[in-house]
Amino acid sequence: MEQQLNVHDKIEYPPMHTAEHILNRTMVELFGCSRAITTHIDKKKSKCDYLLPSSPGAKMLAEVERRVNEVIRRRLPVHIDFLSREEAGKIVDLDKLPVRAGNTVRIVRVGNYDACACIGKHVGNTSEIGRFKIVSYNYSEGKLRLRFTVVDPAAVYLQDVPVDHFFTIASESEGIFRNKGSKFMAFAVPVSSEEEIREKMEWLKKKYFDARHHCYAWRLGVGGAHFRTYDDGEPAGSAGKPILRQITSFGLTNILVAVVRYFGGIPLGTAGLVQAYKHASIDALSHANIVPAVLTDTFLLTFDYQNMDQVLRTLKDMELEYTDRCFENNCSLKVKVRQSLSGVLLHRIGRIASAEMQA
Ligand SMILES: [Zn+2]
Repeated sequence: MEQQLNVHDKIEYPPMHTAEHILNRTMVELFGCSRAITTHIDKKKSKCDYLLPSSPGAKMLAEVERRVNEVIRRRLPVHIDFLSREEAGKIVDLDKLPVRAGNTVRIVRVGNYDACACIGKHVGNTSEIGRFKIVSYNYSEGKLRLRFTVVDPAAVYLQDVPVDHFFTIASESEGIFRNKGSKFMAFAVPVSSEEEIREKMEWLKKKYFDARHHCYAWRLGVGGAHFRTYDDGEPAGSAGKPILRQITSFGLTNILVAVVRYFGGIPLGTAGLVQAYKHASIDALSHANIVPAVLTDTFLLTFDYQNMDQVLRTLKDMELEYTDRCFENNCSLKVKVRQSLSGVLLHRIGRIASAEMQA
């Protein structure tokens, strides 16, 4: 099938080759130049030549590197489409495609970032590329030659990464809703365990002991599966659930929202209660400072003195900071890493002779 399309003389290496697509688009966008005029893809190091009126300089190339990595980190899917020459011509530049390529063109899309005609082999998702790095460059006579590589295209370590980021609230916030003499006081509290939730609820029940109901809902962790609702004597589903719905609609986790109700003598009915618990929750959540957070793992690294450089370089590469360092004959340090990168760190440290990593 592929032989009928266009000729391809690149040595196939999907992570590197897919990075080249992203690099090309990035160059086009930053400098308004065309895609690389010549390319050599190799497993260790690749090069691309671009026609530019002047040297972009190291600072701009650092920006190129940053942008390419930013695209890689978006975990974009790489799609293949087969289009007729005419259709393909509407979305990509086919000037360089040989006439003998036939009437069907294979279009490779990197998310909605880039589309180009290519018959090479690509990764299925940009998360399999690893990290893009410009190794060196030189500029002469209108031509920029970029040498680049991809570090750790450790697909297996990146494919099943846990989702490690979420949104929560930075500190406690309060809200209030009144209807027909009833008062609903809402408290939104950042929490990280059921123990904390129990303690907070006990405290609220003591402080507002004269209230009729102490209803609540909470959610913990990422993935959304760990939550609970509690109606505390209100009709089933009229209090805890509307509270939880607001936690969900604000996209929050590691949070408790409790609503304390002082009864005003006039029943509100189930529909009225649902509205009351909803609006009290909204009031508390809209006063909250919503912040992004990540789940992290902490590891103890041990290694021999002669491998210290390698270990520190790896940490620097991954932009990780360490504490509790002890650099004697047997060295050790503690490092905190976001969960989605734990596998990569484990993989890289595992390649250093004397190094070991413990959770
Ligand atoms: Zn390609």
